[in-house]
Amino acid sequence: MKPPAFDYIAADNLEGALSALSAAGGDGKVLAGGQSLMPMLNFRLARPSVLIDINRVPGLAYVEATGSTVKVGALTRHHALEMSPVIKTHLPVVAAAMQHVAHLAIRNRGTIGGSLSHADPAAELPMLTLLLDARIGIHSPRGRRITDAGDFFVTSLVTSLEEDEIVTDIEFPKPARESGWAFEEVARRAGDFALAAVGVTIDARDRKCEQARIGLMGVGETPVRAHEAEALLRGQRLSDTLLDEAVASIRSAIEPNTDLHASSDYRRHLAGVLAKKAIRDAWRRADGDRQ
Ligand SMILES: Cc1cc2nc3c(=O)[nH]c(=O)nc-3n(C[C@H](O)[C@H](O)[C@H](O)COP(=O)(O)OP(=O)(O)OC[C@H]3O[C@@H](n4cnc5c(N)ncnc54)[C@H](O)[C@@H]3O)c2cc1C
Repeated sequence: MKPPAFDYIAADNLEGALSALSAAGGDGKVLAGGQSLMPMLNFRLARPSVLIDINRVPGLAYVEATGSTVKVGALTRHHALEMSPVIKTHLPVVAAAMQHVAHLAIRNRGTIGGSLSHADPAAELPMLTLLLDARIGIHSPRGRRITDAGDFFVTSLVTSLEEDEIVTDIEFPKPARESGWAFEEVARRAGDFALAAVGVTIDARDRKCEQARIGLMGVGETPVRAHEAEALLRGQRLSDTLLDEAVASIRSAIEPNTDLHASSDYRRHLAGVLAKKAIRDAWRRADGDRQ
């Protein structure tokens, strides 16, 4: 399959990329890793008149720890996130989840900014930004704005980005050092998009859960947080009964789609199974087992 004809602009700096995107008047697309955009063009699901390549824009690919946050540039590749010592130390759930994204060749090209902007409901990074309460930095000719991940994902493949806006950076709050975490995913084959996946972080004190975060993907039009289940865990000690209550709450809160890969019922069941394992593993790590 071949893409429709398009003009191509390789921007040398952010200002140039923004003005080219703005000049395209809604008919331009940013080209980052190209791992979603090029298939969309080849299948004629997108027909932009111009692609604005941001790969030569300096200062968009980095991972940096500050006092209380980890900052990531929008052009940072999935594989860089997987291998980064900063990510491994402060956001181990992100490093673990990256191993589930496609195949190495795709992870070498695909970027965090592209993944968030593409907003596939079964993609790992959108769910992780929601799970970890990340904030997304966005530039346009009007200046810079910052949005919470919770306000960014509108529906499947739709975000709150305006047509002249470019995602430039993502800021993750650093979880407490002793935070427990887990990531569980099932896909039909290694490298496929997830049928469902769950990320969990838990802070424990005196063998009780101080704070729990539970994020799910592949179970609706956007990634979701299981706020009710999080509240059930808060202040409690882990028991089989509590786990079962949390799983029941998660299953009743989600509305998975049926498609050719799996039925809604199967995905709901799977999400519960994965959540149970992830909550247990995150709790074990939070409770002192750092393996
Ligand atoms: C076979 C295959 C399997 C895959 N499996 C997975 C998987 O399991 N999990 C997963 O998460 N992904 C998967 N992907 C998708 C892959 O991770 C993509 O890299 C990712 O979705 C998009 O990132 P990109 O940098 O390639 O973006 P691009 O393809 O370049 O762009 C995607 C969209 O985002 C826009 N965009 C890109 N960057 C920006 C920006 N900074 N600001 C504003 N808009 C921007 C583009 O205009 C376009 O609309 C798979 C892809 C393939 C081909």
